[in-house]
Amino acid sequence: GDVTLEKVREYVWEIPQEGEMRTPARVLASEALLEEISEDKTLQQLKNTTHLPGITKHAICMPDGHQGYGFPVGGVGALDAENGCISPGAVGYDINCGVRMMKTNLTYDELQGREEELVDSLFANVPSGLGGGGIVEAGVDTVDEILARGVDWALEHGHAVEDDLLHCEDEGTREGADPSKVSQKAKDRGKNQIGSLGSGNHFLEVQRVTDVFDDEVGEAFGLEEDQIVVLIHCGSRGLGHQTCNDYLRKIEQQHKGLLDRLPDKELAAAPAGSQLAEDYYAAMNAAINFAWVNRQLIMHRTRQVFERVFDRSWEAMEMDLLYDVAHNIAKKETHTVDGTERELYVHRKGATRAFPAGHPEVPKAYRDVGQPVIIPGSMGAGSYVLRGGENSMERTFGSTAHGAGRLMSRTQAKNEYWGGDVKQELEDQQQIYVKAQSGATVAEEAPGVYKDVDEVVRVSDELGIGDRVARTFPVCNIKG
Ligand code: 5GP
Ligand code: MN
Ligand code: MN
Repeated sequence: GDVTLEKVREYVWEIPQEGEMRTPARVLASEALLEEISEDKTLQQLKNTTHLPGITKHAICMPDGHQGYGFPVGGVGALDAENGCISPGAVGYDINCGVRMMKTNLTYDELQGREEELVDSLFANVPSGLGGGGIVEAGVDTVDEILARGVDWALEHGHAVEDDLLHCEDEGTREGADPSKVSQKAKDRGKNQIGSLGSGNHFLEVQRVTDVFDDEVGEAFGLEEDQIVVLIHCGSRGLGHQTCNDYLRKIEQQHKGLLDRLPDKELAAAPAGSQLAEDYYAAMNAAINFAWVNRQLIMHRTRQVFERVFDRSWEAMEMDLLYDVAHNIAKKETHTVDGTERELYVHRKGATRAFPAGHPEVPKAYRDVGQPVIIPGSMGAGSYVLRGGENSMERTFGSTAHGAGRLMSRTQAKNEYWGGDVKQELEDQQQIYVKAQSGATVAEEAPGVYKDVDEVVRVSDELGIGDRVARTFPVCNIKG
């Protein structure tokens, strides 16, 4: 149906509260982005989310928003942790899908001419695609330890250094994880995928820094023009997907009353305080840890690949983690709402945490400038590093966008593009070297299927929720 939108101020649009809505909803976008957002079900889905019990202040759609399973991708919903609920669909199937950026001290000059060698070596050594196989093969006990401890497990087993933990959201270990709340089936799906990219939208990209917009913050982050960095995007693989599925099923069985009152079955939620809400939160936290280990293993393997290709130790190449940040999670956080402190399940689905300078959860190294935020664009366009903006707590529960956002479905993309041509064009016209398990993936992820990341980031910057720090551009890219 039609959704009414009112302009609040530049880049802020409101769906006014009416009927069964518990709060208004807000869309943060320029006119151009709003036009794209209005083309699919995003606005209706956003409106639906305001029916969730305990929704606070307003449901929010980020500038990269597009339709998702029930809850829009690019959506933020803060639900009261005592009287509200928690919703697996508002976290997303790929629990703790997220990105991490690793720095190097290499320059683009040093890499040029070796792109093919590097992309081949990365493709050969970093597991990707739908098939099984990860960097470590784990038994059940190991999976349980990973679920409970996150990157701390990787540290003990030589896949991480102390510094990696300090530069990860939640220091690489989400508290309150309970492996016993993750089903055997989920563990079975995950156990041979530990350290694997998966397929489709997930990637590992070697990039060069093209612009540093803020010298002071750029310096604090250790970013300089022409520097080579590595961006890794993936999540919790089959384990997270199965966990989401398991709990959606349980909600249907145990909380049908609440489900029947929601305008969309896909918004299924467990009431705060119920056993099922506690169980889902503990299982989700465990899946979050699994995803962090996944990205950590891939990053550490990447260090080894660079060592072989450049014949230097990774320490000598200063391959340090800039930051790792999730973009599909819910977290119990304290926020001040209309002058009152509230405990909220902040759901960020296709949205990135963007805490400002001074926030105690920003790692010490960045406390004075704000949390690094990483926003990928596409394999043929720029990506960005931002820092949490000073308005983020007030406007978005400390969040901003997570990408450029899809413009068309995968099916549409396959009709529009041919993988082989896309790959060749990227190489010939932009010196970008792509290697993927399948041509279909390249077509589905062609640069043209995504919105304009520059515009998304501009809106974030203008609103002061995430400020532009640096821009990068792809050099090599591997995908599933
Ligand atoms: P999602 O988590 O929603 O699948 O994707 C996050 C974002 O990653 C997308 O919105 C898109 O902007 C970006 N993206 C997808 N593929 C690539 C890629 O190959 N390289 C880069 N740099 N960004 C990508
Ligand atoms: Mn994902
Ligand atoms: Mn993602």
